[in-house]
Amino acid sequence: MKKILLPTSTAGSLPKPTWLAEPEKLWSPWKLDNEILTEGKQDALRIALLEQDLAGIDIVSDGEQTRQHFVTTFIEHLSGVDFEKRETVRIRDRYDASVPTVVSAVERRKPVFVEDAKFLRKLTNKPIKWALPGPMTMIDTLYDAHYKSRQKLAWEFATILNQEAKELEAAGVDIIQFDEPAFNVFFDEVNDWGIATLERAIEGLKCETAVHICYGYGIQANTDWKKTLGSEWRQYEESFPKLQKSNIDIISLECQNSHVPMDLIELIRGKKVMVGAIDVATNTIETPEQVANVLRKALQFVDADKLYPSTNCGMAPLSREVARGKLEALSAGTKIVRGEL
Ligand SMILES: [Zn+2]
Repeated sequence: MKKILLPTSTAGSLPKPTWLAEPEKLWSPWKLDNEILTEGKQDALRIALLEQDLAGIDIVSDGEQTRQHFVTTFIEHLSGVDFEKRETVRIRDRYDASVPTVVSAVERRKPVFVEDAKFLRKLTNKPIKWALPGPMTMIDTLYDAHYKSRQKLAWEFATILNQEAKELEAAGVDIIQFDEPAFNVFFDEVNDWGIATLERAIEGLKCETAVHICYGYGIQANTDWKKTLGSEWRQYEESFPKLQKSNIDIISLECQNSHVPMDLIELIRGKKVMVGAIDVATNTIETPEQVANVLRKALQFVDADKLYPSTNCGMAPLSREVARGKLEALSAGTKIVRGEL
């Protein structure tokens, strides 16, 4: 990878075009079918890449244009999960959702995103980051009637994720990111087996690896939950010491408009840090100066060559116009700080 100082990237998802799926909505149904849907997804991916390019984003992604949801779509491609058989469970201890059931051994019989990654690789020479759901976040969106053990099911998913990650690496992906918002919720499990399970998912990879831990999309359930967290959000304090000792290369955290004390970054000294400098829970577009302020503060705790400016979380639920504005703000703010270094 060509060395860029303060390389910008997004957490992963970007809004989809309105002709592909209903905007500003999670799990939004596709508006196209069959081959036209395949073609539509590819066109949307092209647009997502173009918009990142136009905004000057350095590490690009597919904008998650081919998935309906960052966790569900991956699971839909596996065997052992019955999507017709649904149970209501509490997701991340926060909101109830009707979820599919694990009915037998989970297996990945065919690649999930590998063709999409090859497609993106052909379109750009920039470094590519690819997001996959983390094992703990996956088990949290399912009802398990087979393994009856969160740890066992997570381990099976880690094995499957490792197979997918190795093929993504072979397809030319530079950074593989695992989304683990569950790491900010289930602290005991994170320390007992969560990090070991994540390390199983990255076993044998030569490309860089990242873990994205956040406070979720800007949806109501998450906004309500954040109101209960008090004036200081110290959740990262629980997972960071163990992540610092892990083999994960890059660790992400939310910093824009959040109550996360920045000095928590000290706990992952030596790691590369993806600093969220864009709030995804508001339609207000940050000024470049606001972005720069977050990055300057982060630089007190992380060396410049290890700082990766990013968004707090995915931007799928935002309007395209707002998301574009936020991408541009991220680039412009980063440029200011680069100039100061
Ligand atoms: Zn996130």
